[in-house]
Amino acid sequence: LWEQCVNQLKAELTSAEFNTWILPLQARVEGSLLRLLAPNRFVLDWTRTHYSERLRELSQRYSQGRISEIQFEIGGFERRASDRALEGQMRGGEADLAARRAAANLNADFCFETFVEGKSNQLARAASIQIARNPGATYNPLFIYGGVGLGKTHLMHAVGNLILASQPQARVIYLHSERFVAEMIKALQHNRIKEFKKTYRSVNALLIDDVQFFAGKERSQEEFFHTFNALLESRQQIVLSSDRFPREVPGVEERLRSRFGWGLTVAIDPPDLETSVAILHSKASLLKVNLPEDVAFFIASHIRSNIRELEGALRRLVANAHFTGRPITLDFTKQALRDVLVAQDRQVSIENIQRTVAEYYKLRPSDLLSAKRSRVLARPRQIAMALAKELTRHSLPEIGQAFGGRDHTTVLHATRKIKSLRDTDPGIAEDYHNLLRLLTL
Ligand code: ADP
Ligand code: MG
Repeated sequence: LWEQCVNQLKAELTSAEFNTWILPLQARVEGSLLRLLAPNRFVLDWTRTHYSERLRELSQRYSQGRISEIQFEIGGFERRASDRALEGQMRGGEADLAARRAAANLNADFCFETFVEGKSNQLARAASIQIARNPGATYNPLFIYGGVGLGKTHLMHAVGNLILASQPQARVIYLHSERFVAEMIKALQHNRIKEFKKTYRSVNALLIDDVQFFAGKERSQEEFFHTFNALLESRQQIVLSSDRFPREVPGVEERLRSRFGWGLTVAIDPPDLETSVAILHSKASLLKVNLPEDVAFFIASHIRSNIRELEGALRRLVANAHFTGRPITLDFTKQALRDVLVAQDRQVSIENIQRTVAEYYKLRPSDLLSAKRSRVLARPRQIAMALAKELTRHSLPEIGQAFGGRDHTTVLHATRKIKSLRDTDPGIAEDYHNLLRLLTL
């Protein structure tokens, strides 16, 4: 019965609300009474005022009318076996920390201890440590910008993790901006926008990743704007990240953009060779493998601009050595990473694709980015998007962004459409094939 109620609420509430208020509750049925135990007064008061009505309805429904009364109190029953097993592995405080981390959407692996310092990230790291030690008291907001795979998300998690670990009472939420949008829509659909507002305005630190994905989402920007102001006013910490400088984030209202830059803005640059080597060694030791120096240098010098890819290459190498049972030597590395390195050399940029497709169809590249929907433009645009999906490692949202700030569903639609047209329309099939050749020659 309680499980059904919980599942239903999970669908209705945002995950932040659900994790904070519903998950900690324990239930016991006694005749027509449903007793709900909250771990502390805070949760008790909140759930009683905000959720008792809905809980009564749900428990009545799922018990076929048997339950008629709900009672809230503080305390805890014996834990479920799975909880106990989990906690058996941790000491009390750590179990608590792990739960708070999960409620905050934080990954424990992304902490300052595992973040390798280098010239390229020195300032961003220092500023992050500073605000994590004194949230809300120094730079607010902290805005971290830089290219893909350079450590922005890692740093944001590190800030959240340090705050949680050093302040037992602190409430932290980390969210990708797209998640923020999705949660807001969910709240609107279920008529819970008031609770949504409260949840986000009651945190001590709000970390929103990749704010460029707010582009074009006006209602979300509006909501975020007010959350932003409320948090700044009550001196709670905000941390934001983006692939661009605050003022240059496209598709975002001016008043919000200017606020992005109110505190401190720091950049992360691509790592220099030494930092890349150090990162490889650090990741290797997390994977418990010993990486020879010449191998580390070889990988680092071939994959220069993106730490995520550096890490991917290392994982692949380690997996390969594991399967074949061979030691990691320079020769073995060259062989194991052959494909990765070829792909790296050949990597095509979205810009390059846009230029080539535009030339091929005798259009201007800007036509592909424009909002115009005429057929002469729409088809080439879809082909360019499909090529971007096939030839680059950019995600759907990133591709949409690069095509004049379109939605990721538009990109998805384009890739599917072109895929099916290539099977049914010989003209399209030929164009696609020619473009593929032009781009990968
Ligand atoms: P971004 O958010 O900027 O796209 P991420 O934070 O997701 O990049 O980083 C991509 C990967 O690179 C992650 O696995 C992260 O742990 C790793 N990484 C980035 N910078 C560092 C660093 N300075 N030290 C260790 N690992 C790093
Ligand atoms: Mg990121």
